[in-house]
Amino acid sequence: MATVILKDVKDNPNLAPKDIQRTMLKDYKMIISYDQAWRAREASRKMIFGNIEESYDHVLSLKYELLNRNIGSHVEVQIGLDRAFERILFPLAFATFEGESSDNWFWFLKNLIKAFNSELGQLGEVSNEAFLSLHAKDKFVWSRRHFFEISKNNYLTNNLSESFNSWILDSRYLPVVDLVDKLRAKLMLKFNKRRKIGLKWKGKLVPYANRYCQEISKNLGSYLVGQTNVDEAEVENEYERRNINLKERTCSCRKWQVTGLLYIHVENYIGIIMNAK
Ligand SMILES: [Zn+2]
Repeated sequence: MATVILKDVKDNPNLAPKDIQRTMLKDYKMIISYDQAWRAREASRKMIFGNIEESYDHVLSLKYELLNRNIGSHVEVQIGLDRAFERILFPLAFATFEGESSDNWFWFLKNLIKAFNSELGQLGEVSNEAFLSLHAKDKFVWSRRHFFEISKNNYLTNNLSESFNSWILDSRYLPVVDLVDKLRAKLMLKFNKRRKIGLKWKGKLVPYANRYCQEISKNLGSYLVGQTNVDEAEVENEYERRNINLKERTCSCRKWQVTGLLYIHVENYIGIIMNAK
């Protein structure tokens, strides 16, 4: 029976036992139990993907292939006592574990730092300024909050791992080599899709920022700007009055501090400065 449903399982490895029961009845006039259908699917999967245990034997050849075909990749494999402890690190970066634990996280971050360190030189080639600014800080405080206290964006998501999990849901049953290969392919397509979209962008700003600025510009000019100091100004219209400090990147409406985005008050002030030049 596993052979009979082989093609179906290959097309959809998550084929439900119920659907197998239906196919067997419709195409072969055979009534089988849910358990039989389930076992048949498992047997088909084994034919297609091999034994889960055996798949670990291919991990090292996968590493070799990945490194050869994706120059600049970092792949780490750790073979533990239990073969299911194989772990793989990938560009930008994912790892497979038997479960989530502090040890696993430590291993993952340690290797992430290792990979990052070996690429740092290249960052210097792109922007020496970025390279120097990173090195002005101790590596142990390389997190966003240690660089500038101001907000860097107004978007925060803390369910990224859930999104990723649901994105790869249909691959999670796969033996490790097939899993990693499927993720690699998925990421590759994703990167390519993003690259294509990015190529269509015009100007220095991303479309979202462009729209944001255009939207704000609609109401420029309805404010009066009174400069009070080199970097400070009072911006007001009939409804409100705001104090801006360009050096400290603050506006008394607090939008700039909280979202990291310039708001109409600051745009008015900057507009005046630009026109004066
Ligand atoms: Zn403001």
